[in-house]
Amino acid sequence: MDDCIFCKIIKGEIPSYKVYEDEVVYAFLDISQTTPGHTLVVPKKHVKDIFEYDADLAAAVFARIPKIARAIKASDPAIEGMNILNNNGEVAYQSVFHSHFHLIPRYQDDDFRIQFVNKQEQYDDAKYQAVLDKITKQL
Ligand code: AMP
Ligand code: ZN
Repeated sequence: MDDCIFCKIIKGEIPSYKVYEDEVVYAFLDISQTTPGHTLVVPKKHVKDIFEYDADLAAAVFARIPKIARAIKASDPAIEGMNILNNNGEVAYQSVFHSHFHLIPRYQDDDFRIQFVNKQEQYDDAKYQAVLDKITKQL
């Protein structure tokens, strides 16, 4: 895609700190370095978001992630864990509309924060079931 920043990075038209490349994915340091080693894994095929993947592309891209994740983790003994995030849509904080997976290494006392709010007390069986029915009838 012509005006896509990640397509330009993949083609080498914009510089990047390349971590890994093969025929399916291009991985490079996220410029923001939310934590040291923060890496983006990007399919070479331009897909906007998770909703545009077919099963083969999803399988091929995700198959690459553990190897890259292990390399990042092995790069620094201070890395104790990793968040893997994939934002889809502006409302979900996607800002570059070429799908990508964030690999965010986690260190003791780093300042990266994700907040999962537990709203379990607002749900009874009927409400879980209503949510479930809406989803499963689309599958
Ligand atoms: P998202 O908000 O999930 O769409 O993530 C987009 C990410 O791309 C952000 O974390 C940016 O820091 C990163 N980013 C944008 N432009 C570049 C670039 N030229 N090189 C590396 N990372 C970039
Ligand atoms: Zn693209």
